[in-house]
Amino acid sequence: MTTSPLASLPAVDRLLAEPSITAEISAHGRQFVTEAIRSELAAVRGAARNGSTPAALPALPALIDAIRQRIARDSQPRLRRVFNLTGTVLHTNLGRATLPEGAIAAMVEAARHPCALEYDIDSGGRGDRDDLVSDLLAELTGGEAATVVNNNAAAVFLLLNTLAQRKEVVVSRGELVEIGGAFRIPDIMKRAGARLVEIGCTNRSHARDYEDAIGPRTALLMKVHTSNYAIEGFTKSVTQAEIAAIAHARGLPFVEDLGSGTLTGLEAWGLPHEPTPREAIAAGADLVSFSGDKLLGGPQAGILVGRKELIAKLKKNPLKRALRVGKITLAGLEAVLRLYRDPERLPERLETLRLLTRSQADILAQAERLRPALAAALADWPLTVSAEPMRSQIGSGSLPVDRLPSAGLVCRPHRKGGVLNRLEKALRGLPVPVIGHIADQALWLDLRCLRQADEAGFAAQLHELAARPR
Ligand SMILES: *Cc1c(COP(=O)(O)O)cnc(C)c1O
Repeated sequence: MTTSPLASLPAVDRLLAEPSITAEISAHGRQFVTEAIRSELAAVRGAARNGSTPAALPALPALIDAIRQRIARDSQPRLRRVFNLTGTVLHTNLGRATLPEGAIAAMVEAARHPCALEYDIDSGGRGDRDDLVSDLLAELTGGEAATVVNNNAAAVFLLLNTLAQRKEVVVSRGELVEIGGAFRIPDIMKRAGARLVEIGCTNRSHARDYEDAIGPRTALLMKVHTSNYAIEGFTKSVTQAEIAAIAHARGLPFVEDLGSGTLTGLEAWGLPHEPTPREAIAAGADLVSFSGDKLLGGPQAGILVGRKELIAKLKKNPLKRALRVGKITLAGLEAVLRLYRDPERLPERLETLRLLTRSQADILAQAERLRPALAAALADWPLTVSAEPMRSQIGSGSLPVDRLPSAGLVCRPHRKGGVLNRLEKALRGLPVPVIGHIADQALWLDLRCLRQADEAGFAAQLHELAARPR
């Protein structure tokens, strides 16, 4: 009978006593390190049993090295910073808006210290966290009052649950949108306990469709901004003012889910027009909901503005407590909202708008500056790197049809094969992962979202691509 070579693997206790492992224990704690040792030993045994490691088991130094690498891997933060070179500025999977420095500072301050979140410093009595931003929101939108929840999906949910539970909500068929990642108006409606009454056809709705749909169980009329697609051709939708008039004639509220909701007219900077909460309220909407982290350029939040008595009802719903935001969000949101008081300076001060208004010439110059570094790193790869114009999109469902003239780096392979996929993977594997996109047999790195301050750091890591599998 032979003893298994696996019996020669060192015991966990023996490894725990190794000096380099003791150092890991000081940094990460005994329990975590013990688990890492167990996992590594299990991996070695598994590999030996199914024959993927030949006769020789790793020697002690190699084993210790593997354990330390495992510890390093497992103790990296999971939420990692990346370079968003996808060409989509407000990329939901990459965290949407990046915030202005003033908002970041306010969020850090709120995180570090106790703050008067629900405390009225003047009276020493209890305060309301919504008061931190509701006056600002009223000023910026023309609404009477406001409340803030976790995101716009939560805002729509709270609105429907409060005003339309066991009642009917009239929405045009052309507006039954799905926003990426399973936010569908019909599903939210059902969960909120409201019954959806669809009117019109996908491409056309008329005023009489709304009128005919109103019955004794109708709670409200709703308009949803069709933010991530456009229906073109033979279309007709009823204006906000018309729907509001129909609702008000029957004593019903008219509410609008705006989705992105910028607080200022974007056309001042050559961007396409996106409906604002102020316009919706001026047209007669009684409640408007929008996101904090789309075009608004703030932290993740859902904002509701509108008539005082309706906002008061929303705030009395116990779900408001479940959906409310924390102090860090409110600190960031307040700072961002303040910037909107001075629209002229917004493009320099609001990071999202700064990115959206960067000129193509500026981005192309940046691409030309960075091209040599990428070309040198990829010298042995079978592809050509060039600086070229391209088109960005705003993202997060805003302005789906309009593209912004942009520029960046394009990698075109010399022949067909898997090289683009390997390059895409190698870029993702860099210390700060670089996220681009593959289209039309090329890999595109749109530089619109690469800040000048990050250029050197971006370029400095590219040399690692030379050693990656191509
Ligand atoms: C984005 C969007 C939502 C969801 O907003 P979140 O902030 O992602 O929860 C809802 N409705 C519309 C029209 C949207 O564009």
